[in-house]
Amino acid sequence: MKPPPFQHARPETLDEAVRLLAADEDAKILAGGQSLLPMMNFRLARPSILVDIGHLSELTELRREDDVLVIGAGVRQRAAETSRLVQQTCPLLGQALRHVGHRQIRSRGTVGGSLAHADPAAELCAAACALGAEVVAIGTGGRRTIPTAELFLAPYQTSLAADEILTEVRLPIRGTTRCGFAEITRRTGDFAIAGIAAALEFDGDTVIQARLAGLGIGGTVQRLREAEETLRGRPLNTETINAAAQAAADATTPPGDIHADPMTRRAALRVAAQRALEQVAHD
Ligand SMILES: Cc1cc2nc3c(=O)[nH]c(=O)nc-3n(C[C@H](O)[C@H](O)[C@H](O)COP(=O)(O)OP(=O)(O)OC[C@H]3O[C@@H](n4cnc5c(N)ncnc54)[C@H](O)[C@@H]3O)c2cc1C
Repeated sequence: MKPPPFQHARPETLDEAVRLLAADEDAKILAGGQSLLPMMNFRLARPSILVDIGHLSELTELRREDDVLVIGAGVRQRAAETSRLVQQTCPLLGQALRHVGHRQIRSRGTVGGSLAHADPAAELCAAACALGAEVVAIGTGGRRTIPTAELFLAPYQTSLAADEILTEVRLPIRGTTRCGFAEITRRTGDFAIAGIAAALEFDGDTVIQARLAGLGIGGTVQRLREAEETLRGRPLNTETINAAAQAAADATTPPGDIHADPMTRRAALRVAAQRALEQVAHD
C-alpha cells in the first residue's frame, strides 16, 4: 500500500526543522520511518509534510556526561544496542533493544523515534522508564527536560508539543544497578503480549530500591508500584520473586484485543516478571 501524497523537507539544522514544524500544524517529523510510514500506508496518519531529521548529525551523538548516558534522538536503535558505552553503563537498554522487531527495523529505527511514538508495548519506553530517564525537547518555546514519567500520556501520545523535537534521552548511570528484561511474544520479533524492564539496587542481599516498568499492559508503559513495594527491604529469592510477579499481575488491568485477552496478558506479565527478576538475581 502507498502513503497518501505528502511533501518532504530536509532541513540542514535543528532550528530549521523546528521552524518547519511550527509553520504547518499537519507537519510531522520523519526519523527512521519504521512506525510513521506504516501508519501513513494504512491511512492512520496523513501529514502534509514530513520534516526529515534522519541525517542531522546534531542528533546522533552517544556520550557519557559524568553520571549520565546521553543518547541523541537520531541514534539508530541497532547502534545503541551494540554500543560498548551503552553495554558498560546502561546494559538494560541493550537487553530491551534486542527485542525490538527485527535487526533490519532496528537498523533504521531511532531511539528518539521509539520514545516519541510512545507505543504502549515499546521495549525502549519501558527500559527508559525503569532507568528513570529524562528526554530533552526543543521547540519554538525553547529547550525543556521531561522525565519519562511525564512523557507518555496515552497510546501513541506524549507530552511533546506539535512543534517540539525530542533531541536526546538522558539516562542516569548507577554503577550498582542490577537489571533484567523479559517479554512474552507469540513469535520472535513480534510486539510483546506483555513484558517488563527491571532495575534494582541492593544493600548486600537486600533490595533497597526497585524500579519495574511493564509494557503491553495498558495505554502506556507503566511503573509496577505494588510489585516494587513487595521487593523493597527483602532478599531477592524465589519466594520474593514469585510474590512480586504475582503482585505485578494482580495490580494490572490490561486491555484485551485480537492478540490476547486481559487474562492472557496478566499471565504473560507474571511470567515475564519472574524471568526478569531471575535475571536480576543472577546479574
Ligand atoms: C515490522 C515492525 C515491527 C516492529 N516491532 C517493534 C517492537 O517489537 N517494539 C517496538 O518498540 N517497536 C517496534 N517497531 C517500531 C520501531 O521500533 C520504530 O523504529 C519506532 O517505533 C519508531 O522509530 P522511528 O525512528 O522509525 O520513527 P518514525 O517512524 O520516523 O516516527 C515515529 C513517530 O515519532 C515521531 N518522531 C520521530 N522522531 C521524533 C523526534 N526526534 N522528536 C519528535 N517526534 C519524533 C514521528 O513524527 C512519528 O510520529 C516495529 C516496526 C515494524 C515496521
